[in-house]
Amino acid sequence: MSPTRGYLRLDGISACPGVAMGRALVYHKETPQVGRRRVAPEQVDAEVERFLKGLHLAAEGIRRTRRLVAADQGEELAQIFDVQLAMLDDVAVRDATLRLIREELYAAERAFAQTLAKLKEGFSLIENDYMRQRLSDVVDVEHQVLSRLAGGDLPRLESLRLQTIVVARDLLPSESVHLGHPRVKGLILDVGGPTSHTAIIARSLDLPTVLGTESCSREVANGDLLIVDGNEGQVHIRPGVALVRRYRQQILRQRRRERDLSSRRSLPAVTLDGREVELLANIDMLPEANLALANGCRGVGMYRTEFLYLDYSLPEEEEQLAVYGALVRAMAPLPVVIRTMDLGGDKLGHLLDTTPESNPFLGWRGIRVCLDTPHLFKTQLRALLRAAVDGNLRILLPMICDLDEVRQVRALLAETRAELRAERLPCSDDCQLGVMVEVPSAALMTEELAAEVDFLSLGTNDLTQYTLAVDRGTASVAKRYEPLHPAVLRLIRMVADGGRRAGKPVSICGEMAGDPLATALLLGLGVTSLSMSPGRVPEVKEAVRATDWSAARQLAEHCLSLSTGAAVRAYLESTVGHRVTQRGPARRSSAAARSPRTGVAARTGSRPTRS
Ligand code: PEP
Ligand code: MG
Repeated sequence: MSPTRGYLRLDGISACPGVAMGRALVYHKETPQVGRRRVAPEQVDAEVERFLKGLHLAAEGIRRTRRLVAADQGEELAQIFDVQLAMLDDVAVRDATLRLIREELYAAERAFAQTLAKLKEGFSLIENDYMRQRLSDVVDVEHQVLSRLAGGDLPRLESLRLQTIVVARDLLPSESVHLGHPRVKGLILDVGGPTSHTAIIARSLDLPTVLGTESCSREVANGDLLIVDGNEGQVHIRPGVALVRRYRQQILRQRRRERDLSSRRSLPAVTLDGREVELLANIDMLPEANLALANGCRGVGMYRTEFLYLDYSLPEEEEQLAVYGALVRAMAPLPVVIRTMDLGGDKLGHLLDTTPESNPFLGWRGIRVCLDTPHLFKTQLRALLRAAVDGNLRILLPMICDLDEVRQVRALLAETRAELRAERLPCSDDCQLGVMVEVPSAALMTEELAAEVDFLSLGTNDLTQYTLAVDRGTASVAKRYEPLHPAVLRLIRMVADGGRRAGKPVSICGEMAGDPLATALLLGLGVTSLSMSPGRVPEVKEAVRATDWSAARQLAEHCLSLSTGAAVRAYLESTVGHRVTQRGPARRSSAAARSPRTGVAARTGSRPTRS
């Protein structure tokens, strides 16, 4: 039961535009709970499957930890994990648990906990230090499996019958990928910022999303009617008839607009005065490649490989080779830029098995992880070099801060190539290498970097975060996260100019590339290659086709002369914003025009408005 049964409006941050209406599915992620739940006889098979999947995921997690420990601290220490793996593999443990599920109808958590309770009791009675140590292994294994089982709430999506809005306090990227279910129409989170990775996934799924509502998951009960207004950054809980009618109209207009854009998607991306702009796709999951092609993308500007690691495990070379090869072949002869694993920050930090960092975004992430775990990185490089023989594959390095990092990668690439050749495995000799410019030091060193790489890709999500010292995933500072800040714009121009002087292509793959409000400005700053979620391409193409090149240069000059981010945004809204919003799915308020994709919608305070 929700505390309030009447209408309630919450204001948050718009993370993906559009409007959706549906019934609430509230996802509560809890610390592993055992409980005394039983299942109905007809659910037994599903429960058995859930248990076996939990076991499998836990084993994958432990194997990953083992690999890391073996690489960093030696095989001997790593062997302690073999005990845990053996427990997970133990037929007696498995059978006892399955018997409790099948015969006693226990839920998987309860059955597994009861089985292990017996094992723990046995170990605690043994008067031998070594054997008592094994008790902590049992506790650890229990925790691993119960956490995997607790994370199983989202798969409930499989049985959805109604249009659904998922509500949660927070979601990990690994959980967000389950949102691709056709009945999921919207997402609301209590926390998060507009370029957090969950927001990026929501955008790649084109799911109207509002983040930072602070209390939505507490205010809403399963089954409540909800409206997610991703244009205004608002959530309407249990709306009345008049509001429902108004939003139905808006949803109909939105669908018309989508049909209209789709009918023009084969038109070229050229400005009014005939300059061609390269529109590329950012891809987090393989199926997005189809949408990229359907929307006329000229290639993949960035494939985020870290999303391959979502199942709590590090993929092997052959697995990676299969994925990269499929993508390259699907897009051939178009280019595919594959970014090496950008773990850490808010992305899959749990895979890294480090002591928690007080500031993960300034910690061990991106290229730092790649270079410090050469065994993992070389596995990825091997797969990339092998897949590159099938098409136009380019390698992109995340979080480069220093030229030395590029040189170290070049050395590792040479070593990897030599190894592949020695093994007589076909691999590419001339795969292009590029760097993300997403840290101010890289932007300031553009010329030096450009001299040693083949291309540059501006990661404006992180560049904004690091230039303004504003965490991109934190709701309380979200209104300060402004990619249109003149400081960020100056860095973008510096990189565009530096790349041009060095004769190296520069593109933008941060979220602002997919925001039509920013299109003319970015072209005016000298960037003519934009990479975005494939779903954003039609809107951006419209913006390109409505832009005059020389006017864009003047627009950019003017924006660069302004002294605050708010002034730039206001100026864009009063000039191109008018055009963009008029063409938008519906007329948007000025808060909505503060598009989620360039930055942050107005956070009007998340105090609930009741009526
Ligand atoms: C960026 O930082 O702009 C970027 C594209 O990379 P990610 O969002 O994956 O950090
Ligand atoms: Mg980044």
